[in-house]
Amino acid sequence: MSIHEEANKRRTFAIISHPDAGKTTLTETLLLFGNLIRSAGTVKGKKSGKFATSDWMEIEKQRGISVTSSVMNFPYKGLEVNILDTPGHEDFSEDTYRTLTAVDSVVMIIDATKGIEAQTKKLFKVCRMRGIPIFTFINKMDREGREPLDLLEEIEEVLDIETYPMNYPAGMGKRFLGNFDRHGNQFVRFTSNEEEKAIPYDELDDPQYEQMVAKEEFQLAKDEVSLLDEAGEEFSLDAVLSGKQTPVFFGSALAPFGVQTFFDTFMSMAPPPAPRKSTQGVVQPDNPDFSGFIFKIQANMNPAHRDRVAFVRVCSGKFEREMSVKLARTGKNIKLAQSQQFVASSRDTVQEAYAGDIIGIYDPNVYRIGDTILEGKELFEYDELPQFPPEQYKTVTAKNVMKSKQFKKGIEQLVQEGAIQLFTKYRTESYIIGAVGELQFDVFKYRMQNEYNSEVILENIGERVPRWIGDEKIDDSLFDERNMLVKDRDGTPVVLFKNEFSLNWFKDKHPDVDLIDLYEAN
Ligand code: GDP
Repeated sequence: MSIHEEANKRRTFAIISHPDAGKTTLTETLLLFGNLIRSAGTVKGKKSGKFATSDWMEIEKQRGISVTSSVMNFPYKGLEVNILDTPGHEDFSEDTYRTLTAVDSVVMIIDATKGIEAQTKKLFKVCRMRGIPIFTFINKMDREGREPLDLLEEIEEVLDIETYPMNYPAGMGKRFLGNFDRHGNQFVRFTSNEEEKAIPYDELDDPQYEQMVAKEEFQLAKDEVSLLDEAGEEFSLDAVLSGKQTPVFFGSALAPFGVQTFFDTFMSMAPPPAPRKSTQGVVQPDNPDFSGFIFKIQANMNPAHRDRVAFVRVCSGKFEREMSVKLARTGKNIKLAQSQQFVASSRDTVQEAYAGDIIGIYDPNVYRIGDTILEGKELFEYDELPQFPPEQYKTVTAKNVMKSKQFKKGIEQLVQEGAIQLFTKYRTESYIIGAVGELQFDVFKYRMQNEYNSEVILENIGERVPRWIGDEKIDDSLFDERNMLVKDRDGTPVVLFKNEFSLNWFKDKHPDVDLIDLYEAN
């Protein structure tokens, strides 16, 4: 098979959701479709609320594939599916956001009983920034939830994206009858523990369905579907592919109900790896030379094993074991010897990867997040990964002032690695670190102590709303502890506003100050 054909088969996506919306349950159901597991419920350690490693290892052994909590790969109807995990819960961090730079589409799960929740909104913003296609699965229709029209309206308003319901539910919870399938012109009955039952629209007047059709829920949904047909948005694949419209599916990940239809439709619409922008122009996925970029580096927390794994999203060509590549930043050759760990496919048997795949390579401490590795004569780098505005801030000082050398070195390296973002306060020059999630601070503290022998003291500043300032000659007397003026790593002034209210107040008072929201700037 040619490089072009291989790349075209890849469908690489992530699932975004708020904790408890059903990401694990949906993932399990998808793995069932991929025949990776025999029964649902094996993926998640019920108590810990996390993927149980032993289960994964067991799956790996059984199927001869490599499944880690980071990437799952399986063939499906002639396609190669790569699902990237977006760490959530207490692991929520910049890595979660960066993962979204390595996918070609996204599935957004919304809990029908809750609607849009905080974490979904944050993750959605990152997808929007990249203009990637977003497919929505409204989950838990087997429970009493919110009205479907209400949920659709909320998505449109809060996330500012057009919705196109691909199917539409009649009733919910105990009175859930099934879905009108607007694409297939059929009604799919909700039957637990049975195959999904589809009735073509023109057979619905068959006497055997009389009782169901007469139900209030059925009639109401039918009217609402007619309303959508007449007054709703028209379906547009172009709008979907440019992230302006999201196809919406209703169902239950647990039953499971509506998942197969959802997944088949999703797979038929989701884009293969797209060409990517680089410093030497656009690079095609079927370009014969291998190239990829590093979107995540995972350090081994065990000090006895200092090795790290760099996660590479392959963007072009063919990756082969033991190949030699160049690190674009330095121009140096690197042989990706023995230690690379395959994440995308079987660690032992599969020797190659193509655009869309994710590979893990051994990092002897030379890589940085955002690095490009490649073959070929020409050196280029993929567009820099966006810098995500941190949400939490703390001041950091060395416990032992005599050890300021280690302290500085540690901070410098960890900042370079992208583990944490560094700011300095105007005048006092004291250090402030920012992160997306709380876990990053714990890891930072731990690594400072264990890798750089520097004990640090962190003091909470709390959640802030950061805005970058375009003008370097800003008058620092406009700011105080509430709206704190700091400099980022490049010396650009940033204001850490106490909250949205302070931000708006400041905007009113100083309309001439150019405040940049990184999400909008990227
Ligand atoms: P995650 O935190 O997003 O991975 O969510 P989980 O997949 O762990 O689901 C959270 C809880 O919701 C679990 O108790 C699931 O059994 C339950 N759940 C998930 N999907 C459904 C569904 O479709 N219907 C119902 N009733 N419960 C569900």
